[in-house]
Amino acid sequence: MSATRFWVAGQRRSAAEAFEVRSPFDGRLVGTVARPDDVDVEDALVAAVRAAPVCAALPAHVRAGALSSVSRAIARRGDEIASLITSESGKPLTWARAEVARASSTFRWGAEEARRFAGDLDRLDTDPTGEGRIALTRRFPIGPVLGITPFNFPLNLVAHKVAPAIAAGAPILVKPAPRTPLSALLLGELLADTDLPEGAWSVLPVADDRMPALVADPRLPVVSFTGSGQVGWAIRDAVPRKHVVLELGGNAAVLIAADYSSPVDLRHAARRIALFSNYQAGQSCVAVQRVFVDRSLFGRARKEIVTAVLELRGGDPADPATDVGPLIDTAAAERVAAWVAEAVARGATVLCGGTRQGTAFAPTVLTGVPRDAAVVREEVFGPVLVLEPVDGLDDGLARVNDSSYGLQAGVFTHDLATAFRAHRTLAVGGVIIGDVPSYRADQMPYGGVKGSGLGREGVSSAMADLTVERVMVLAGV
Ligand code: NAD
Repeated sequence: MSATRFWVAGQRRSAAEAFEVRSPFDGRLVGTVARPDDVDVEDALVAAVRAAPVCAALPAHVRAGALSSVSRAIARRGDEIASLITSESGKPLTWARAEVARASSTFRWGAEEARRFAGDLDRLDTDPTGEGRIALTRRFPIGPVLGITPFNFPLNLVAHKVAPAIAAGAPILVKPAPRTPLSALLLGELLADTDLPEGAWSVLPVADDRMPALVADPRLPVVSFTGSGQVGWAIRDAVPRKHVVLELGGNAAVLIAADYSSPVDLRHAARRIALFSNYQAGQSCVAVQRVFVDRSLFGRARKEIVTAVLELRGGDPADPATDVGPLIDTAAAERVAAWVAEAVARGATVLCGGTRQGTAFAPTVLTGVPRDAAVVREEVFGPVLVLEPVDGLDDGLARVNDSSYGLQAGVFTHDLATAFRAHRTLAVGGVIIGDVPSYRADQMPYGGVKGSGLGREGVSSAMADLTVERVMVLAGV
């Protein structure tokens, strides 16, 4: 099979070097991908710099038109794209289809925000020195953006970089994850069908060892990174003067409050927890990892959660009936197994799962885990859930906050005061009441505090992060 070509300034390019993409499920060859060299990267950079003033001056209807056309094209080719996502990432087809729908919506939302992106007007005559003056504040692109994305949402996290950049008028170079570059390269076909200016976008599956030089390149003043904390914080340290956005990992928690006690409530919470601790085999930054249940409900909740986890079907991700697919590679599955073994060696009880077969790890529920075990403290990024009782709301909120991460949290409650208290108290970027933390919509800000990152995505928040305010004061008006 010939190597899939990458995109330099909107044009396909081939290369002498190529790398393989294999299915995490059965190791089959999914594709080979041409690897850009230094000349390709330089050409993309020069084109992006040249395109910057052109993109910034593009009328809103042109930006919106391009974004809408990509949104429609994603939907039109949805089946093909979903099966590509499944092949390269091992994500079950049902979830791959959901990702396609999300990506289409991200571009659609980008079109809306492109039309809305205007500015603010402030009166200055609130003070005698400002009489006869007004301030008009608009946001202008900081400059070409380097967007770096992880493997777990090979299309939608690329969409979250590309759509806001187009909407804000900034050229973008996208660097997809090495294990899942094919969806991003296919997105290039859809972008190539728009009339965005040459240099507005490139998709470059550059080797990781070339990335430090690209990150440091002064022609890319913005680095928007989604991925692990290890790589993300190293980028922040390497380029402290650049505008760096970091969307990193987490060990998301759920709290079931004492009032969420009816059989129907507990069944609902258990099903949501089971599903979203195991969707994508736990490889989501907001997968449910830690579950705290008011002690008065703990026995019943434990039974419901284990039952709901055991109902999930593992297997071939291409089978639409599969709920839980493989991890991205054997090393990831071995790491999860080692962390579970550590917890068990230190006294944890395995309520279900705990076994590995190749890249697959069985959906696992642990309880009685020491607070400093890796499955509690670190990001598991695997289908493992730690379930513990808490003594009342204060204890529960404190346990949720007892983390070096802070992306999102879920609180199952019907009580308004509990909801507001959780919103006030939890050190996270988002609190989801009545559901798990694994929820994201394009109109809401999305991002973390503490080890989970810097800045926010969600289309309009991301646009704010790619641009800078510039004020114009009009005197004598
Ligand atoms: P990763 O950090 O290993 O890789 C992310 C990207 O960085 C890849 O494209 C990789 O090739 C690139 N990279 C590697 N070395 C680099 C370097 N020195 N300089 C610049 N780029 C480099 O992450 P991953 O394993 O692909 O993804 C999993 C992580 O992503 C998890 O921690 C997960 O929580 C996080 N994530 C966060 C969000 C969010 O929105 N907060 C969403 C999805 C995933």
